[in-house]
Amino acid sequence: YQDINKTEKIVPIKVVVRVRPQNKKEKENDEQICIQSKSNTLRALDKRENIRRFTFDQIFDEETTQEEVFECIMEPMLKDVLNGFNATVFAYGQTGSGKTYTMEGSTGKKSENKQKVPWFKKKTAGLIPRSVAFLLQELKTEGIDFQIKSSLVELYNEEINDLISFSQKKGKGKGKGKEKETKNQQTKQTNHNLLKIYDDKANGGIIINGLKEIEINNLKDIEDILFEAISYRKTAKTEMNKNSSRSHTIFTFNIRTKTVSKNGIEVVKCGKLNFVDLAGSENIKKSGAKNQQQKEAGKINQSLLTLGRVIHNLVQKQKYIPYRDSKLTRILQDSLGGKTKTCIITNISPSSGNIEETLSSLDYAKNAK
Ligand code: ADP
Ligand code: MG
Repeated sequence: YQDINKTEKIVPIKVVVRVRPQNKKEKENDEQICIQSKSNTLRALDKRENIRRFTFDQIFDEETTQEEVFECIMEPMLKDVLNGFNATVFAYGQTGSGKTYTMEGSTGKKSENKQKVPWFKKKTAGLIPRSVAFLLQELKTEGIDFQIKSSLVELYNEEINDLISFSQKKGKGKGKGKEKETKNQQTKQTNHNLLKIYDDKANGGIIINGLKEIEINNLKDIEDILFEAISYRKTAKTEMNKNSSRSHTIFTFNIRTKTVSKNGIEVVKCGKLNFVDLAGSENIKKSGAKNQQQKEAGKINQSLLTLGRVIHNLVQKQKYIPYRDSKLTRILQDSLGGKTKTCIITNISPSSGNIEETLSSLDYAKNAK
């Protein structure tokens, strides 16, 4: 049994930038394009027409397709995950910059999907469906004995909300008469599936108590989660009066494989892959604010601030890493730092109207290097 990763130079944290195309409104307003890129350097023109230069591991311009982003970022990472490594991909950036498009993509509603191309191969399909398709294909063609379990949580106001069990409860309530539905509604209002985190002392990882996991055996399973749980997330948001830009979504895949080596020894490998669609980075500024509403924004983004510190300290090889300062970094503790792979995708708008947010996103990303 040969582990290719032992010889490979480990680049623990990769920071890339993805520039989205101008949207209709920006075009109509004749907004200037103030981002230019060439290989891994980026030039941004600020409000005073000063040029600022940044260097990252990779820059994906407006033209880059979902497939190209997948091949560049995910393929090497997925091979590591299959070899038993933990890995995390973050999408960071202001609201509307393309985080969800990058992670999930816009695969369209199930019923509307009449195209012949399978949904996960559509041009607009994001990293999550493409990754699951890749993993399943890889494992099935190799005939490897595997188990993939998936969970989906949303972090809002430092509270953990289980989106899978939420969507299942809602699903059960549907079509079973009014009485049941009301009952469901009540439990939902008193308990939004809030969960607690514990240390898994035996395995050195962390456990989210009571978190629902779904087994993924084929693409249909992931399709269901993507379409249903994610659409329930939207429902949950309006019902709980949440602002989508303020919550973090964490999609986790636990992948366990069992192979037999040439000399007959059974090798079990467990890898974990997290996709984190972060809260809009514009919230980070509100963190130092004084009034009650702004204080709340601060609490919501405790996770965003702590993530910046954790990554900074990991890159600087500092001894103390403040994982415990936020729920997000607690949940990801066993997948950040050490023998793990991390990629931060900083999503930005190319337009002059967003330049201030863009520069602050680029500075946050630069800080991670
Ligand atoms: P965020 O999740 O950061 O708030 P979204 O992913 O929802 O932003 O993107 C905002 C809009 O821009 C969506 O309509 C999305 O489809 C579109 N968009 C984002 N990135 C791209 C891209 N690279 N190519 C085409 N459309 C994009
Ligand atoms: Mg989004």
